[in-house]
Amino acid sequence: MAKVLCVLYDDPTDGYPTTYARDDLPVIDAYPGGQTLPTPKTVDFTPGHLLGSVSGELGLRRFLEERGHTLVVTSDKEGADSVFDRELPDTDVVISQPFWPAYLTAERIAKAPKLKLAVTAGIGSDHVDLDAAIAHGVTVAEVTYCNSISVAEHVVMMILSQVRNYIPSHQVVLDGGWNIADCVSRSYDVEGMQIGTVAAGRIGLAVLRRLKPFDVHLHYTDRHRLPREIEEELNLTWHASTQEMVPFCDVVTVNAPLHPETEGLFDDKLISTMKRGAYLINTARAKIADRDSVVRALESGQLAGYAGDVWYPQPAPADHPWRTMPHHGMTPHISGSSLSAQARYAAGTREILEAWFDGTPIRDEYLIVQGGGLAGVGAHSYSTRT
Ligand code: NDP
Repeated sequence: MAKVLCVLYDDPTDGYPTTYARDDLPVIDAYPGGQTLPTPKTVDFTPGHLLGSVSGELGLRRFLEERGHTLVVTSDKEGADSVFDRELPDTDVVISQPFWPAYLTAERIAKAPKLKLAVTAGIGSDHVDLDAAIAHGVTVAEVTYCNSISVAEHVVMMILSQVRNYIPSHQVVLDGGWNIADCVSRSYDVEGMQIGTVAAGRIGLAVLRRLKPFDVHLHYTDRHRLPREIEEELNLTWHASTQEMVPFCDVVTVNAPLHPETEGLFDDKLISTMKRGAYLINTARAKIADRDSVVRALESGQLAGYAGDVWYPQPAPADHPWRTMPHHGMTPHISGSSLSAQARYAAGTREILEAWFDGTPIRDEYLIVQGGGLAGVGAHSYSTRT
């Protein structure tokens, strides 16, 4: 029987909800492109309920305990004395969410000889040292597509809120004020702008599609070029590299995974080649942008705004400079953890666990590492250090 160690974010500060703002979730039949939604045999949770926090347990307890497995759920993940570190040595399966990542470093993997499966209840497995997972024969899987559209919606919201100066204008209302000039002296229309995405995968392409009706000029760069019909449909300009694309853009949105090719990509040098007053929106991973370069660019005016929901480390310390830098629209890491997304990634996590315990294959679409190498979607989108 297996021990499953599940690291989730804390419950709401005023307790686990007993009621919700809405009674149901819209039914989604399939993802764009036709990939099916998660297909577990059944689920033991109500879609629309809070599943990603400790008391929600991703709806997994009954399923695991009925099969004789042990489930440990905790939010305590930092430091040698954390519940995570104490429980890890005899754990078979770790489940973690990018929003509250249990960093599975090489040192931690070395201390977990029984660990065979690391599941990301979400998308983005960069909190797992993939080289170490490969070396130790750990399978890494994530719930591909579960929250890609959730993030795309968040990106569009952040582009609009930055360009139109929404957050400071809302603050004027909260403060009892009415000074229009304070609100509009940094407010522009998105219409006509040049907007580029670094990566046009599931999220990047969904962002492009959602932006098209705003009558903007769309650009992208990606390691693999999109089919010609899509380039024509969206009137896309393709660039061979991020470096080539960003000088053209008023807004750049980052939608690539964090891996050796993308780490530190937006540094002083790259940002200095952007248009003065460009906006940078990063909901992918914090380390794709250099922390202090972003602060410097906002302070100098090279960037007019920066928004996103990804930080390093997570949770971000109280003195993280991105909390106080000018003209930012940061949120905690929430874009992929709407109640809608939670229902999908909880179901996807269950689907992966069912396959694992039944000894049937995990979908290729979910695999990042298996059999001592990058596999499935991981072989397409990630790279390793070696
Ligand atoms: P996909 O795998 O569908 O897309 C990733 C794309 O990035 C692929 O098209 C890939 O190219 C491209 N890519 C990889 N490396 C580079 C590079 N060096 N330069 C340009 N493009 C590159 O993933 P998603 O769109 O679903 O998710 C993307 C990322 O967003 C995740 O890895 C995760 O880090 C982040 N994310 C954030 C969430 C949040 O809550 N904030 C939630 C979900 C995801 P190709 O495959 O063509 O080689």
